[in-house]
Amino acid sequence: MSKKLTKRSEDYSKWYNELVVKADLAENSAVRGCMVIKPYGYAIWEKMQAELDKKFKQTGHQNAYFPLFVPKSLFEAEEKNAEGFAKECAVVTHYRLKTDPNDDAKLIVDPNAKLEEELIVRPTSEAIIWNTYKGWIQSYRDLPILVNQWANVVRWEMRTRLFLRTAEFLWQEGHTAHETRNEALAETEQMNNVYADFVENFMAIPVIKGRKTESERFAGAEDTYCIEALMQDGKALQAGTSHFLGQNFAKAFDVKFTSKEGKLDHVWATSWGVSTRLMGALIMTHSDDNGLVLPPNLAPIQVVIVPIYKGEEQLTQISEVANDLVAKFLDRGISVKFDNRDTHRPGAKFAQYELQGVPLRIAIGPKDLEKGTVELARRDTLTKQFVEKDTVVDTVAVLLKEIQKDLHQKATQFRDEHITEVNTFEEFKEVLEDKGGFIAAHWDGSIETEQKIKELTKATIRCIPFDIKPEDGVCVYSGKPSKTRVLFAKAY
Ligand code: AMP
Repeated sequence: MSKKLTKRSEDYSKWYNELVVKADLAENSAVRGCMVIKPYGYAIWEKMQAELDKKFKQTGHQNAYFPLFVPKSLFEAEEKNAEGFAKECAVVTHYRLKTDPNDDAKLIVDPNAKLEEELIVRPTSEAIIWNTYKGWIQSYRDLPILVNQWANVVRWEMRTRLFLRTAEFLWQEGHTAHETRNEALAETEQMNNVYADFVENFMAIPVIKGRKTESERFAGAEDTYCIEALMQDGKALQAGTSHFLGQNFAKAFDVKFTSKEGKLDHVWATSWGVSTRLMGALIMTHSDDNGLVLPPNLAPIQVVIVPIYKGEEQLTQISEVANDLVAKFLDRGISVKFDNRDTHRPGAKFAQYELQGVPLRIAIGPKDLEKGTVELARRDTLTKQFVEKDTVVDTVAVLLKEIQKDLHQKATQFRDEHITEVNTFEEFKEVLEDKGGFIAAHWDGSIETEQKIKELTKATIRCIPFDIKPEDGVCVYSGKPSKTRVLFAKAY
């Protein structure tokens, strides 16, 4: 297989699919819409998990685990949630197979093993969790409950893309229970901020924090907060969501608590999640025509050392220097790999690490041994420099921080250049076609207008940013009065 990727300018979506496969992140599987996440891709996801998990625990949450299946009667209990997810549900109806009486090499579903009640493979876990919380909550002393689950969920998506939209995906889902509306609202906001902080500072992806419109809201929520990112092709990507669920689930599952004043009331709820879609965001924010570009915080290997040698003796001499560097890097908490495989030529190794986005590459050859230097190459800028071998560990430590910062800055500049204010529908369509990105436009607040704009342009309202300043204007589509601009974009 050729290692070269299709250029982004030729076909962005082809470039993305090729990159995911060639950088060894994931591949399609025998199951429609479900992917295999390969070890290198999974190592990046594990880094995301570790950092998020730390942040969840720092904000007082604990992990737990709930069943994969939701009995249909529980699933139905919160009507809006059930209705919203109904079209994407995988349903288990039987629990046994048997040999086909007409062909004993085949198995068929045993008609005698029909489940009394169908089981839904969880598309999200509010139902099973709130049914459980009913047994956990009696009084204000049992609150708050601050629980997170790392799990897989299934949403039977019709059009799937590796990482971005798969039928089964990995995620975390936080489910919290509170005494008051305000406490639940504060939690919703806090977790949206935790996501924003993680995505900005760890993934080096700038995001806009805001609120979803009614039609984009999570089914069963009173309010959905989100973080929205912008990809290199000008399309937006929802990077995380945090939902204020009001008392909807507590009412559906009859979860009440006795307050300090002795009053009986329904519990207030939130839920929040990010998924393996973040891998897609990572790829489409930083990578280039040569392959993946990884922010150092997420790189499974931060520095790779490649020896350039002829014969055993040179390799032994270079290995001595390399092993010494490896020990020093590990001492500094920098992840490093010395690639001394003799089955691959240096050129092939360079190409592989470039494709896989290793932030820094050190090459050591016989000339370097003489001069006491190494060649240090940056993946993000594709620049090279010679560095004294005695100072290279310090230089790498500095550069890793610099790369992390530079990637964030570059992505922020791109994002900011792709937020365009428009005042007419003509302009709206023109900017969407020619430039893409976020379009800041006035909207009359009606679902009809939002729907019409979506039909005509495929652009949706990504969010009503929290920090947007109120401004009197008229809706780009209907001409009706509006008090604030919202952000439209085509989205993944
Ligand atoms: P939701 O529960 O719908 O708010 O989604 C929680 C998170 O999962 C959001 O960040 C979504 O962008 C993400 N997500 C939703 N559907 C999928 C999917 N089919 N594949 C991957 N991620 C998804």
